[in-house]
Amino acid sequence: MYYSSVIAIDGPAGSGKSTLARRLASSLGWRFLDTGALYRAVAAEASARGLGAASDGELGRLAGELDIQVALESDLCRVFVGGRDLTGQLRSPPVSSLASRVASIPEVRDSLRALQRRIGGEGRLVTEGRDQGTAIFPEARLKFFLTADAETRAGRRLKELRDKGRDDTLEDVLEGMLDRDGRDAGRAVDPLREAPDAVRLDSTSMTEDEVLAAMLAKAREAFGDASGV
Ligand code: C5P
Repeated sequence: MYYSSVIAIDGPAGSGKSTLARRLASSLGWRFLDTGALYRAVAAEASARGLGAASDGELGRLAGELDIQVALESDLCRVFVGGRDLTGQLRSPPVSSLASRVASIPEVRDSLRALQRRIGGEGRLVTEGRDQGTAIFPEARLKFFLTADAETRAGRRLKELRDKGRDDTLEDVLEGMLDRDGRDAGRAVDPLREAPDAVRLDSTSMTEDEVLAAMLAKAREAFGDASGV
């Protein structure tokens, strides 16, 4: 299948993918998909069922059995499991850590791959994750690989956490981030990689508005009037 109007954004934790994917989708009037939320939803459900320390086989089976649905708008991606909205429960540190383990299990990725492609098939989608341009939508017409140096990414994540009233230290955030990056890039199935045809944007010394402007310019080039901009 040719995913004619999908924009794939990949990159490491804290690179600003989510914020920029959401802003890009809003600017285009397209839908926004946060694929990390799908892995987080499997992790949150596993944890609620007392399966936080279960084997890979059990977690893989669980992912295959879950009824996961999404409700997408241009600035919102809600995830439902068995009809329950889990969106507000997906960002805690234990769920983050279990999500990156769950994401390394091939059966989990198989289950979520089908769901992501179904959503992409409906078109006009800005999707972000680790493998969107390489494994899920290799045919996407426009792909970005968004990155920034590790200290900058950790500093941004720290600010988000502080804004939510948490008092984590930069060292803790940096350590957790490098740990997850290592797992995401080192896993056997669909590791974090830059697609050969991706537009690379290093946001270390760019503002969010500058990155968005660069993305919009590429979207206009790739989609012209079809992008609605
Ligand atoms: O992007 P976010 O931090 O919400 O993703 C949570 C976890 O899900 C990541 O640590 C990563 O291991 C996994 N993930 C993935 N593939 C994606 C999106 C997220 O493996 N496309």
